Amino acid sequence: MKKNADSKNNLMHENKTTLRTKHALSKSASKSDACAIEKSTSSQNVHAEDFMRLAILEAQKAFKKGEVPIGAVLVRGGKVIAKAHNMREKKQNALLHAEVICINKACSRLGSWRLDDCEMFVTLEPCPMCAGAIQNARLSRVTFACEEKTSSDHLCQKILQSPRLNHTCTLVHDRTFEAEAATLLSDFFKLRR
Ligand SMILES: [Zn+2]
Repeated sequence: MKKNADSKNNLMHENKTTLRTKHALSKSASKSDACAIEKSTSSQNVHAEDFMRLAILEAQKAFKKGEVPIGAVLVRGGKVIAKAHNMREKKQNALLHAEVICINKACSRLGSWRLDDCEMFVTLEPCPMCAGAIQNARLSRVTFACEEKTSSDHLCQKILQSPRLNHTCTLVHDRTFEAEAATLLSDFFKLRR
């Protein structure tokens, strides 16, 4: 059904707004203010803390390997589908950010590019490339621990929630592990200087 709506959307631009409205209405009530970065609430996901802790562990692994310490965990129905950390240096591949690796693993494991029933926990607010990948994989929600230094431009949010695209991803800033995630990054860059 959703697949049909998406393909119609590609073919019929004049109906884009209507279809998007239907799509938005089909989402839960919590998405009504999806145009803003949400603050996390304890009722959203009782396991959110556990998942973010796993993402921090991934970031720590990256730190030990000399990679920019960012970790990500992809979850479906309360179960971890994939975990990853940055591997750009080891593989000498600019695309291998934690989020992209996580999406790649999840697509392989679930046998689908469409991950709309999945959510991601990531230690740092996603960069534009990862936000694009998250959008394309149709993730329903992304929770991040610490803000990108340049996040005042709201670029990640703009990509995840662009009215030009036919999918909206909820963006949540959960500060529970903000200090850990930020300290890992600042320690890493101090060592590099
Ligand atoms: Zn990225």
